[in-house]
Amino acid sequence: MRKEIMPQRQSSELTIHTSLMFDSKQKKLVSDISMVVDRRTGLISKVFKRDEQLAQHDVSSPNTVDLRGWTVLPGLVDAHTHIFLHEYSETPSLYQMRDESLVERVVRATNHAKAALKAGYTTYRDLGTEGLRDADVHFRNTINRGIIPGPRMFVATECIASSGGYEIRQENGMPGETTVPRISDPADGVDGVRAAVRRRLGAGADVIKFYADYRKRALRFPPSTWPGSRDIMFPPSGDPLTGDRNPNLLQFTQEEMNEIVAEAKRGQAPVAAHAQGPEAVIMAAKAGVTSVEHGFIPSKDALQAMKENSTIFVPTLSVFYSELRRGDEDLERIFRVILDHTKAAYDHGVKLACGGDTGAFPHGDNALEIELMVDAGIPILDVLQAATLHGWESCGGDLCGRRFGVLAEGWAADLVALDGNPVEDLSALRRVAFVMKDGQVCN
Ligand SMILES: [Zn+2]
Repeated sequence: MRKEIMPQRQSSELTIHTSLMFDSKQKKLVSDISMVVDRRTGLISKVFKRDEQLAQHDVSSPNTVDLRGWTVLPGLVDAHTHIFLHEYSETPSLYQMRDESLVERVVRATNHAKAALKAGYTTYRDLGTEGLRDADVHFRNTINRGIIPGPRMFVATECIASSGGYEIRQENGMPGETTVPRISDPADGVDGVRAAVRRRLGAGADVIKFYADYRKRALRFPPSTWPGSRDIMFPPSGDPLTGDRNPNLLQFTQEEMNEIVAEAKRGQAPVAAHAQGPEAVIMAAKAGVTSVEHGFIPSKDALQAMKENSTIFVPTLSVFYSELRRGDEDLERIFRVILDHTKAAYDHGVKLACGGDTGAFPHGDNALEIELMVDAGIPILDVLQAATLHGWESCGGDLCGRRFGVLAEGWAADLVALDGNPVEDLSALRRVAFVMKDGQVCN
C-alpha cells in the first residue's frame, strides 16, 4: 500500500532579521531591522525595528532567515547589460555577433544569468541582443517561468538606429555574397521611428533603446582588420576622445528623437539613449529619454541638459576601464577624464545609475561599476543608491510592473547579504554570502 507522506507545512511567511541594512531611499545604514516576506507574492509585507535581543529559538525556525552579522542591501540592479555578450578580451564583439551560433550564445547567456545572480545582481536592464534579434524576450521569459535561475530582466530586443547607423561593417560586403546578422532595427523619419518603437513593443520589449549617435563612418578610414592588412596612409587621429578617424555622429534629428520618446510613452515604456557626444546627450535629454548611456565626452552643457530634464546618467565606466587592460597610456589619460566627468555629473546633481555595459567584461563582475564610481570620487552611499533605487527608476520605475531596489513594505524581497560593510571596506561587495530574489533564496 502506498504510504501517504504529509508534506511539511511551509508557512507562506518568512521573517528575515538583519543587524545592518542599507536604506536606499534615505541613503544610510540602519540597525536591527527585521522584515516579513510573503512568499506567495515575493513582496515584503512588513518592515520593523527590533527593540529586543532575539531569542535563540526565533532564528532556528524554518520560516526565519537570520542575516545578522552581515550587511544587507536591496538586490543590486545592473542598468546596462548584454546577456548574450561575453568579455571582449576573450572575443571581440564583432566576432561574437558574426561568428558565434545562436545556440552557443544562448547557452553562454544561461551561465551569465547564473553568475549575475550569484554576484548579488537580481535585476538586469539588458540593452540589446547584438545580433540575436528578439531572443532576449524569450530568454527573459525562461527566467520568469522559473526554468533557469537568473536576474529579473528588462529587455530592449533590437536597438533602433537610423539607416546605416549601426551595422556590422566589413570591406568584403558584396551584396548577396556575404551575409552578416542585423544588429539594429533601422528607422528614419518621424513616421519611421514611430513604427520602429511599435515593432519593438510588439516584439515584447520592456525598454526602448536607440542610438542617438554612433561611430558610423567606419569604412571611410577603415582600420586594419587582420594581421598584416595594410593601414591607409596618413589617417586622421584615432584618439577615442576626439575620434577624428571615426567620430561619434548624430543618428537622428530632434524631431525623430522626440517621436521615439513620445511613442514609447504612449506604450508606457522607458527609453535608453546611447549617446557619446554632448550634442547627442543634449538632444536625447531634451527629447525626454529615461536614461543616457555612456555620455563620456566632457561637457557642462550636457550635464545641465540631463539635470534639467531629470535624465538618469549611466556612465558605463566598466566598459571603458576594460579597454585599459590593453595598457595604452592614451586610454589611461582618457579614462581619468571620464571619471572626472562622472564626478562632475554627480556634483552637478545629475542622477546616476550603475550599469557597466556588462558583457563587454564578465557577467558576475558587475560590482566593478560600483567600485569605479567610488574611484571617481562619488560617496559610497550615493553609489549604492545608484545601484539599487536608481536602477529601478532606469527600468521605468512603476512602469516596469514591479517595485524593487528598496527594502520596504510592498517592494520585492530582493536581498543581498555581504560579508563585511562596504562603507568601510569596498571589497565586501565581492563577498556575497546570501542572495534572495522575489522571496526565494538563490544560493
Ligand atoms: Zn551596451
